[in-house]
Amino acid sequence: MDYKPYITIINDYPEKGVKFKDITTLMQNGEVYKQAINDIVRYAKDKQVDLIVGPEARGFIFGCPVAYELGVGFAPVRKAGKLPREVVSVDYGLEYGKGVLTMHKDAIKPGQRVLITDDLLATGGTIEATIKLVESLGGIVAGIAFLIELAYLKGRGKLDGYDVFVLTKYE
Ligand code: IMP
Repeated sequence: MDYKPYITIINDYPEKGVKFKDITTLMQNGEVYKQAINDIVRYAKDKQVDLIVGPEARGFIFGCPVAYELGVGFAPVRKAGKLPREVVSVDYGLEYGKGVLTMHKDAIKPGQRVLITDDLLATGGTIEATIKLVESLGGIVAGIAFLIELAYLKGRGKLDGYDVFVLTKYE
């Protein structure tokens, strides 16, 4: 299905020159949101995944319903200081400066097949850091699913060798 009519483009947000893709209008439509989740579930079934991993906060919006539907677990990737137990950490590039993403050390059992989900692939920095966390815990990245790819930001260049699934792409 064509998801673009349900995604709102906000010009000059959060700063001048950016065309922000607002997915809340898609989520407000129950049928379309469900269809998007079902598309990712179908992809995940092919990959025989044991666990879903998603970065905060919008990775949860797509990852959790997919995990529920498959009957597998969900492990969150969170910014530094948000997870209460022992974590692994990785630095990642932000537009201005650096950030740190973390996962609980026991979130993945070595050898588990992991599907990573997020709403949107932009420069790829967030997902590259998420892959590092998953692999450092012994997980196998079986696939990566996004609702949206901003192809002009060339984030896919950071995902060479991984299986990537996107529902809609902006050139
Ligand atoms: P990246 O690390 O540059 O690939 O940025 C991806 C992250 O930034 C995702 O987790 C998105 O939620 C967020 N993001 C970047 N641009 C947009 C946008 O236009 N709409 C919604 N989220 C965005």
